[in-house]
Amino acid sequence: MSSSILVINCGSSSLKFALIDTVTQHTSLTGLAEKLGLADAQITFKYQGGKAVQTLAAGTHAAAMHAILGQLQELGLFDSVRAIGHRVVHGGERFKASTRIDDEVIAAIEDCARLAPLHNPANLLGIHTALESFPGLPQVAVFDTAFHQSMPERAYLYAVPMALYREHGVRRYGFHGTSYRFVSGEAARMLGKPLEDTAFVCAHLGNGASAAAILGGQGMDTTMGLTPLEGLVMGTRSGDIDPGLFGYLAGALKLDVNGVTELLNKQSGLLGLSELSSDCRELEDAAQAGNPSAILALEVFSYRLAKQIAALTVALGRLDAVLFTGGIGENSSYLRERVIKLLGFLGLQLDADANQRCIRGQAGCITTDGSVPALVINTNEELMIALDTAALVEQAR
Ligand code: AMP
Repeated sequence: MSSSILVINCGSSSLKFALIDTVTQHTSLTGLAEKLGLADAQITFKYQGGKAVQTLAAGTHAAAMHAILGQLQELGLFDSVRAIGHRVVHGGERFKASTRIDDEVIAAIEDCARLAPLHNPANLLGIHTALESFPGLPQVAVFDTAFHQSMPERAYLYAVPMALYREHGVRRYGFHGTSYRFVSGEAARMLGKPLEDTAFVCAHLGNGASAAAILGGQGMDTTMGLTPLEGLVMGTRSGDIDPGLFGYLAGALKLDVNGVTELLNKQSGLLGLSELSSDCRELEDAAQAGNPSAILALEVFSYRLAKQIAALTVALGRLDAVLFTGGIGENSSYLRERVIKLLGFLGLQLDADANQRCIRGQAGCITTDGSVPALVINTNEELMIALDTAALVEQAR
């Protein structure tokens, strides 16, 4: 019986995909279409250790989807595809879990686009092109926001007029939910506890970064808000600022709202602080060589992260483990060391050797025996999307 799920993560100029067997959890084919909309659009396929690149003459998302279909047929994999799972960034308050896609769901995702104008339209483009290229296959939407729908009002409300919440959906939604769901499940397994009995703070640290308080597998609070700009210091995003900065910069730099938004999203964070790079690895190399700007940027990043981890424990009432994931969380022993040292008062004590070992795909515990554990866990959002998709398709049989 066919058991593979094609996972699609569609952005405005890129389309990432993976073919995952949900029984063996093996990923057979992966790839990335890039520069969509430009003259030099191309698609890369990776299969059994080999790599093939094709140019996409039409340069469209539809052309990329068509190339994926062609590749699946050429490799004899097409018949193994049972369904398609799509990453969708914003599901608003409507979607509290993954769902089968139909016309009504598409309309609701369109409606949520006002909350994620950069992401949802691109995700929808992926859904429409997949429906055209794979008309017979069931399709499922998996939302970044759904995990956080269990947050209580006290965590998701901003202290602004309630009419803004009622009439415009102004509240905190949170993102990276698919990763949090996967990582908290893995952490429970690693600790040998039922997920229902766990209290975790998880830090998903990539180019975009957030942290979440997770109690019994349910999201209780998180650092990102209405948009992915709130919270931690990120590659190019500022994270939390004084909202008064908007008015101040409007006066000082004569910037309009779009100008300040752009500055906070694209020129801030590690890049803005270091004036060197948004890339954590490059900054670490520079910091090790003694560059003071890189040291300062990483210092602000670690301090703000430790402060937020401590704050998130308020939502839990206790702390069973701190979890690190994402490109930085899975690899940066430098930042993890600084964060754990700042969290000593919460009962965390670093095991320096274990911390050095947990890089490049090596998961594990990086604290000493007797410490509140800190675990490094490799996230796998694609697998989570595939498992959700398979479960929903199975349910409908
Ligand atoms: P992601 O968005 O999850 O792919 O994460 C990207 C971030 O992970 C970038 O800031 C990278 O510099 C960082 N990263 C990847 N590998 C390493 C590494 N070995 N050491 C430090 N940071 C890393």
